[in-house]
Order: sequence, then C-alpha cells, then structure tokens
Amino acid sequence: MIEESIRQKNEAQNKTADNLQSSLRVFGNRLANLPDQGSELPADRQSRLLAWTLFLLGLLMVFTEILVFTLSYDTEIRRYLYRIVPVAYFLVLVVSFFLNRLRRIRLAALMAVIGSVIAVWSVILSDPLIRQGLDLIPICYIALTLLISAFLLNRIDTFILSIVQDAALLILILNDPILRDTNWISLITFLVFMTVISLAISHIMRTDLDQIDRQAQSLLAHEAALKDLAIRDSLTGLYNRLYLDETLKREISRITRRNSTLGVIMIDIDFFKTINDTYGHGIGDEFLRQIGQILASRVRDSDIACRYGGDEFTLVMPDASLDATYERAESIRLQADEWVFEIGPVQIHSPSLSCGVAVYPIHGHTGETVLEAADHALYLAKQNGRNRTEVAEPVPTDQ
Ligand code: GH3
Ligand code: MG
Repeated sequence: MIEESIRQKNEAQNKTADNLQSSLRVFGNRLANLPDQGSELPADRQSRLLAWTLFLLGLLMVFTEILVFTLSYDTEIRRYLYRIVPVAYFLVLVVSFFLNRLRRIRLAALMAVIGSVIAVWSVILSDPLIRQGLDLIPICYIALTLLISAFLLNRIDTFILSIVQDAALLILILNDPILRDTNWISLITFLVFMTVISLAISHIMRTDLDQIDRQAQSLLAHEAALKDLAIRDSLTGLYNRLYLDETLKREISRITRRNSTLGVIMIDIDFFKTINDTYGHGIGDEFLRQIGQILASRVRDSDIACRYGGDEFTLVMPDASLDATYERAESIRLQADEWVFEIGPVQIHSPSLSCGVAVYPIHGHTGETVLEAADHALYLAKQNGRNRTEVAEPVPTDQ
C-alpha cells in the first residue's frame, strides 16, 4: 500500500518533470525559430541552447538596468557608464538572437561572447574608481565572460579568451601604481580559478553534448535504415506496395495541382510459375531479383519502381502522358526479348512480359482507381494472349 503510493507519487513527479522539460523545449524551439517539436540534430540543439542563453542574458540585462537606476553613484561617469553598458549589451544580445534565428549560430555565439568582453572591459577601463583602486568588483565580471564563453563557444575559444583577458589585466595592474598596491594577487587567483572551472564546465558539457550528438546521429541512421526496410521489398530492393500506396497519394495531389498527368505501368512475367517448377524457387527468386534490377534501371529518378507482389511490378511515372507511358511499357516488353539471365548453371532468356497501362486522371481519379485500372488492363493483356500491352478503359469525365 505504502509502496503503491510512493510509486504513484514518483510517477506524478516524473510526469511533471517531463511536462516541464517538454514545455521548456517547445519554448526554446520558438525562441530559435524552429518547429515546435524541433529535432535532435546537433545544429538544432545548439541553436535552442543558444536561444535560451541569449534570452536569459537579455532578462539579466533588463534586471541589471533596473538595479542600476535604483542605485546612487558618486560620479557622473559612473552613473552614465553603468546605465549605458547594460543597454548596449542588451542590443548586442538582440542582434545575436536574430542571427541565431537565421541559423548563423557561430556568429551569434561569437557576438554574444565578444559583446560581453567589450562590455566588461569598457567598464574596467572607464570607471575611475577602479583605476583609483577603490572598487575592484567590476573586474570580477571577467569571470562572467568566461562562463558565457564556456556555454556558447568551444574549449579552445574559452581558453584563448581567458589567457588574453588575464594577460591584459596583469598588464593593466602592473602598469598602474595604484592598482599594484591593491590585493590584486587575490583577484588574479580568483580569475584563474574561474578560468579553470569554466574550462572544466566547457569540457564536461562539450563531451556530453558530443556523445549525445553521436548517439542522435546513430539513432537517425538506424531510423533511416528501419524506414528503408519498411518501404523496400527485401528480394528485389525495389519499393514495396506500402510505399507505392503512400507515394501515389502524394504524387496525385502534386499532379492535380500542376494539372499534369501520371502514368502507371503494371508488368507481370508470363508463365513465371514454370520457372519455379522447372528450376526451383531459388532460381525463381534470383530471376525476379534480376528483373527488378533491370526495371529499376529503366526508370528516371523521378519515377518509382515497385514490386507489387509475386511476379508483378509497377512503374509510376509522374508527368508522363498516355503516349509516353504506353511507349515505355512497349519498349520494356520488346527489349525483354533480348534479356539473358545466367543464374548458376541455368540460362533463361527472352522472358515474355504482359503490361497494363493506365494514366491519371484519364483512367481513374485517385491513386487506387488508377492502379486498379492498370491491373485490369494487365488482366486483359493476359486474356488476349499475353506478351502484349493493353491500355485501360477511360473513366467517364463526370465521375
Ligand atoms: P501468368 O502468365 O498468368 O502470369 O502465369 P504465371 O505462371 O506467371 O503465374 P502468376 O503470375 O499467376 O503467379 C506468379 C507465381 O509466382 C506464383 C508464385 O508461386 C510465384 N511467386 C510469387 N512470389 C514469389 C517469390 O518471391 N519467389 C518465387 N520464386 N516465386 C514467387
Ligand atoms: Mg505471372
């Protein structure tokens, strides 16, 4: 009983966490101008992460600006400096944000990081209290630029940025007698610590993300392979009926929009059963496979060659007229007279083919009815003595 209630509580907690995560993800996708579901492609993920970071930094700048207005400053320069810098950086973030939405991810990330460095250094170099050694806190903000870089750039970029900034700070301190009198060693130590921690964060994060990218890519490759398995006939490698049905629907709506035509050829091998009966199913299989390969080589890139089932094949030819479809069927049928198949010890030549031709929208107003019409024409070709091509009966135009 207690276990059950703990399980239910855990489930509820997991569900809330999942919901929250998916809402954050959808919001990130909107910020990055990606489709709501986005994808696990590395570029999309980077863009989502960048969009979130820029958004949060933007909010922080708004918060900083409000804070700055509530504080009182003892010098004019300070007052204006601390009012202008957050606004200027906010504008840089806005530009980065839109660059990210245009998929200029690297440029957007560089702008956000370099903008933060310029913002911090313009304060360090212009604030009179820093040069008088009275307020060293703004120098600590260099650490923030390193953290932002660790998030948005790679390890080498972050390392270079930290070395350059530490060196610049050291030069500044050593050349300024007042700053040299401050507790600058502790300050530099703090920055070195932050550098090391930023690099460690950057390393851990990148390693994890690289691994996620590799896993995502291998998942996508597996998914593509599985999809290929689902839509292809294993014997011939041609597309299967499932793919034919799906694709026909899509092609027909495209053809309708373009006011064009789509040709379908059904091809069936005559007396194929005798090959099975004479040489066995193994030879029959290989014969089918080789015929499938020939048919695949006889179609254009935009055409679709399928194994409809058994010894029946379908060729779909978008934008082909009735004449062009009929001619293609006849040319394949006539050429088959010259085909020779060497399968192990067996030689099979001149297979005879029967073809049925139908064209959308002449012989059917849907993919299904055009296929049926082509199948019926094939049936007629068989009835009329085989080794011939028959064209389907046109459907009345008001149907
Ligand atoms: P028809 O001229 O009327 O087309 O006669 P057919 O002998 O070709 O017979 P039909 O097309 O009606 O039947 C096709 C035969 O193909 C029936 C089945 O045993 C065989 N077959 C179907 N699929 C396969 C397969 O994957 N491999 C092999 N080897 N044979 C198959
Ligand atoms: Mg047959």
